[in-house]
Amino acid sequence: MKILVINAGSSSLKYQLIDMENESLLAKGLCERIGIDGRLTHKPQNGKASFEQDMPFPTHKEAIEAVLDKLVSAEYGVVDSMQEIGAVGHRVLHGGIKFTKSCLVDDACEAAIKECFPLGPLHNPANLMGIKACQAVMPGTPQVAVFDTSFGMDMAPKAYMYALPYEYYEKDSLRRYGFHGTSHRFVSARAVEMFGNDENLRVINCHLGNGSSVSASIGGKCVDTSMGLTPLAGVPMGTRSGDCDPAILQFIMNKYGYSVDEMLTIMNKKSGVLGLSGVSSDFRDLESAYKEGNERAGLALDKFAYEVKKYVGSYIAALGGVDVLTFTAGVGENSSTMRARICDGLECFGIKMSSERNDVHGEEALISADDSKVKVYVIPTNEELMIARDTKAIVDAL
Ligand code: ADP
Repeated sequence: MKILVINAGSSSLKYQLIDMENESLLAKGLCERIGIDGRLTHKPQNGKASFEQDMPFPTHKEAIEAVLDKLVSAEYGVVDSMQEIGAVGHRVLHGGIKFTKSCLVDDACEAAIKECFPLGPLHNPANLMGIKACQAVMPGTPQVAVFDTSFGMDMAPKAYMYALPYEYYEKDSLRRYGFHGTSHRFVSARAVEMFGNDENLRVINCHLGNGSSVSASIGGKCVDTSMGLTPLAGVPMGTRSGDCDPAILQFIMNKYGYSVDEMLTIMNKKSGVLGLSGVSSDFRDLESAYKEGNERAGLALDKFAYEVKKYVGSYIAALGGVDVLTFTAGVGENSSTMRARICDGLECFGIKMSSERNDVHGEEALISADDSKVKVYVIPTNEELMIARDTKAIVDAL
């Protein structure tokens, strides 16, 4: 079965076509500037040329039509006809408390995605637009929704509840959900698979990219995760503050006369390593600036590593020990220096890196020393493949 994986944003749409016979990537691409003007970048993986051109995308529907057109075209295509595409898997940000797993898109599922608009105001409406566009262009092809929050639904109440008046949980479903769930699920499942499907394997996964989060799991089931009701919580990120004393908001808002929205923009877009360094949200830029002597870039890198290290330590406590520590996503997979900074000082927990093995970029590898009690790995994430696997499992069971 070939599965089209869609990640629809408000003005963009990323896609991958995956052949589930051997889980190989057939084509991938990106529609940009939807609703503005439009541009398609299509990259077949079968040796055919890439396609990159401006084209009008008034809505997501025209974007999906253009993608399908390229997937079957003689010049840029990878399949003979649309009928070869057995199902579509959609990334959906928020499933609220209703969705503990991925599900077939039907009326109830669509209604629930809508119900979660207030919890994921930027992403859920766009994700639903992607679903609607596929339904219009590919009627009869099963659509599956894969929620970024479903990994976090295994957490126990002591991990997901906030110590706020209980009514906000009861009335408004305010709790820790966690994000990057599909990535955490992929990496922790891979670790469990590597260790003979050990259901008791304690894994701490550091998903470190532009957005970053840390998760603790046992046998692939989430015990705790650093993002919260929204992706603003947890470790500092490219532009997000991460955990912060909530009273600081009141202080800044009162002093500078900011509205709630302005304050949240500061915390989401102007904070994190960008805010601290004043240099960039991009870790490569920070590492070069630091090498050239920029002290605040050094501070931002130090702060990031320190906060990730503290999460690792606290999750060792939550899990009662750890068997495997994993690094994934842009920074986690590629930055040997950041991995070394984070692990430095964790020897007391049996985490001992090998500097030789740690010199690895973007590929699966063991990076701990032979005498490290805890195995440390780089495991490249693949959220699209996880979405395709879920989609196949649901469609196979129909
Ligand atoms: P997103 O959250 O946008 O998916 P990614 O997982 O793609 O983010 O990660 C992007 C981050 O990874 C950027 O900050 C980038 O600088 C960083 N990155 C990529 N390659 C390297 C590298 N070789 N060394 C350090 N950082 C890197």
